[in-house]
Order: sequence, then C-alpha cells, then structure tokens
Amino acid sequence: MGDDNKGKKDKELDKKLCKLAKGDFLTDSLKEYKALVGKGKYLCRKCGRVAGRKKNLCKAEAL
Ligand SMILES: [Zn+2]
Repeated sequence: MGDDNKGKKDKELDKKLCKLAKGDFLTDSLKEYKALVGKGKYLCRKCGRVAGRKKNLCKAEAL
C-alpha cells in the first residue's frame, strides 16, 4: 500500500501474474515482472508461477 506511485502500473500489479504473463506484460514490463517474481513467496498451484504477493496468483500457496 502506497509503496508505488505509478498510477497505471498499480492496477497491473494487482492482476494475476498468471494472466499478465500470457499477455504483453512480460515483454513490455520485464522490470516490473521481475519485481513481482523476484521475491517469490507464493506458488500458483494452477499454473506453477511464483510471486511475492498472494493476490498476484490465481491459486496461491505459500512456498
Ligand atoms: Zn495461476
């Protein structure tokens, strides 16, 4: 909360990584993507992605 000041990106960062990775996010915002994955604490049981925040995964499970 309040840790990023980039209005638009804010919303993107709240989306599921699982979905973002299928779109252009990975190529367009590699930096942001890395930031989301870098401190991975949760694993998505559905698609196997890793993210630092629960809300970025569709079926998050703590690592
Ligand atoms: Zn998923």
